[in-house]
Amino acid sequence: MPVFDHPEFDHHQQVVHGCDEASGLRAIIAIHDTHRGPALGGLRIYPYASEADALTDVLRLSRGMTYKSALADLPLGGGKAVIIADPRRDKTPDMLRAMGRLVESLGGRYITAEDSGSSEADMRIIAETTAHVGGLGHDGTSGDPSPFTAHGVFCALKSAVRHGLDRSDLAGLRVAIQGVGHVGAHLARQLHDAGASLVLTDVDRDALGRLADELGADVVAPDAIVDEDVDVFAPCAMGAALSPQVVQRLKARVVCGAANNQLASPEVAERLEERGILYTPDYVANAGGVIEIAWQRRGDYRREDVMRHIEGIGTTLDAIFERALREHRSPALVADDLARERFRPTP
Ligand code: NAD
Repeated sequence: MPVFDHPEFDHHQQVVHGCDEASGLRAIIAIHDTHRGPALGGLRIYPYASEADALTDVLRLSRGMTYKSALADLPLGGGKAVIIADPRRDKTPDMLRAMGRLVESLGGRYITAEDSGSSEADMRIIAETTAHVGGLGHDGTSGDPSPFTAHGVFCALKSAVRHGLDRSDLAGLRVAIQGVGHVGAHLARQLHDAGASLVLTDVDRDALGRLADELGADVVAPDAIVDEDVDVFAPCAMGAALSPQVVQRLKARVVCGAANNQLASPEVAERLEERGILYTPDYVANAGGVIEIAWQRRGDYRREDVMRHIEGIGTTLDAIFERALREHRSPALVADDLARERFRPTP
């Protein structure tokens, strides 16, 4: 399986495979870039169909973390880790401790954190064997980054609505949220409080029904959400929500959500542009969680400073949307350029 020639390689600094026979650990850690600081990124535990799939995922996610931290102005680089295992069946404390030893062997170049398949409790076990764990919570608070991520998406959405719909407040705005899990549910509540009306979907019908009742929101089936007659479409479930076919169906004029890697392929950014739909670059909008984790690593954590930093996502997006308009380019491409200017040292 080639690494240097992999389509997602993009100048990764280091890719490490780790194995522990006793616990069954099979893991890959990818460090994309450390020019701005140590590479921070979550640990995904997933039953990948093949090692090749795991490698593709970790490379893409790790690269994304470099861009995210750079545009959030954090002293961090980008990295990610995956364990090839079913988190419900295969995950054991011994496997997590072995993962901790692998992280520790990199001497702090990579800092791990929660991601899908790994929990805060798992991070505490990993922390038994490595000092390089982020997001364990501040002063006894929960380490759950979702409320911070949701607040960042909320600020991003306000900026996107200003630029894409020329509206300065959210009252009366209609928003479709795809996925009301950790982040989507927090976002729904914030939008509801700001006067937006909501249409929600999720494959978990019980959680969906409870939230819809609480907020007086409409509910549609998962495959119908993209056809809804709304102002904003907020992908908050899995990656690749935006394919060329989905873009053709969208009635929303603005896309802004929490999901990572929303574009099924880079060309989709152009399709959105052609249809006059303003796309909010995902890694800019969903940086609230990593911003909060970065503050936990400092000695001077103050919640109001964290929230101010997260609200800066709106200002960053204002600049991206203005430049995109001036240059007649997709905000996705403009964001990538701006990020590279921040993490690639000028020769
Ligand atoms: P989550 O697993 O809690 O929520 C995802 C929700 O989407 C679940 O309720 C799930 O049932 C639902 N879902 C799955 N497939 C669906 C489908 N086809 N249609 C509709 N709903 C579907 O995850 P989360 O922590 O809320 O994260 C949501 C997204 O945001 C993910 O892409 C994640 O990578 C990204 N993200 C999360 C954070 C964070 O702080 N949690 C930070 C950055 C990015």
